[in-house]
Amino acid sequence: MPVVRDVLIWDCERRNAESGDIVIDEDGRISAVLPSRSAKGDVIFDGGGETAAIPGLVNSHTHVSMTLLRGLAEELPLMEWLETKIFPAEDRLLPRHIRSGAELAMLEMISGGTTCFADMYYFMREVASAALTFGMRAALCRGLTGDDARKLNENLALAEEFNGRDGRIIVQLGPHAPYTVPRESLARIAGIARDKNLGVHFHWLETEGELETFRNEYKISPSAYLEQTGMLDVPKLLLAHSVWHPSDELGRVNRANVTLVHNPKSNLKLGSGYAPVREMLGLGVNVALGTDGAASNNRLDMWDEMRTAALMHKGYHRDPTLVSARDVLRMATVAGASGMGFSDAGLIKTGWQADLALVDISGPRYVGCDAANLPEFLVYSGTSRDVRATVVAGKLLYKDGRYMTADPEEITAKAKEHRRDITK
Ligand SMILES: [Zn+2]
Repeated sequence: MPVVRDVLIWDCERRNAESGDIVIDEDGRISAVLPSRSAKGDVIFDGGGETAAIPGLVNSHTHVSMTLLRGLAEELPLMEWLETKIFPAEDRLLPRHIRSGAELAMLEMISGGTTCFADMYYFMREVASAALTFGMRAALCRGLTGDDARKLNENLALAEEFNGRDGRIIVQLGPHAPYTVPRESLARIAGIARDKNLGVHFHWLETEGELETFRNEYKISPSAYLEQTGMLDVPKLLLAHSVWHPSDELGRVNRANVTLVHNPKSNLKLGSGYAPVREMLGLGVNVALGTDGAASNNRLDMWDEMRTAALMHKGYHRDPTLVSARDVLRMATVAGASGMGFSDAGLIKTGWQADLALVDISGPRYVGCDAANLPEFLVYSGTSRDVRATVVAGKLLYKDGRYMTADPEEITAKAKEHRRDITK
């Protein structure tokens, strides 16, 4: 059986890290955590006592194929960014571009220890197929706008074809946002999600203007809107951004099936504001972490996202005790995985998926790192460049700069060509 040997193991159910070997069964689950160098089996990775093993990072809101649009529009407000730059470029995207952008994103994600992501876009068969080839875990949906039966049918066909595939793909429904989907359509989508037992991924109150629309035009509170459309009753609901969800209404979305996805860097870069994460965590809301797409971040780097999330709320509220390193590691692992519906991913324990980020802690930045302070070292000192290897469902996808399931030169060369296609 595959063994990850002699690593310093930490997940968010542990106070201190512990040295050990992680044994993986043929289904790609963790079958045991044993004392260091005691496990027998096929050693797929030897940490030599100077590697941390944490659950693979989970990017809970992104649009992977937007790597092809990276840098295309900078320093504009969200609506202008979308309408003058992003939507016209997206009109030119063909399935091959979507595939190419997704592959480019996966190279970046797995080199930084990301094992799982939630994605909303179109031509999603391409993204599903790329995730299966790379070996990543993903929750995918087709972005739905207007009252468009064709798009909804594409989303349902995606579910038919890929939901549950290899135990690594979940298909959700993807109503884009309250400003692009009419209320009746949203209610219909929520009904279908309940009937078909599918999760929903939705952009939610990213900008202040959306909140004003609820107050001035819809004349309804955002939480009541979610309740009345049935969105709060779908099996799993990912509410991306949630920057402007009123703090005094957070109790109404504090449900086991609802996850608010914090996207701090995209919100900062687009000048959207900062989400009330202090209040969310205070209430015990399930909060996950995401990068958003590469056109608005521009990195798909969960380390950068964790560090930003841990720092920004301390600064805004002038309170260094807020949003701890352990909080953000929870957001970036088990909170995201469970929010998507992967109920056995995000912890390093027997019976759970062997999804791991293996992090070199031998370098200068980690002098002083030990079993008690590992999470803080990872979040405040660590970077994605410290990731030595990435494992999903017990399979090594990346190790010491080498990709096991993809050819990075070929993917990058093709992406350069495709970028020229869509910008000429
Ligand atoms: Zn988004």
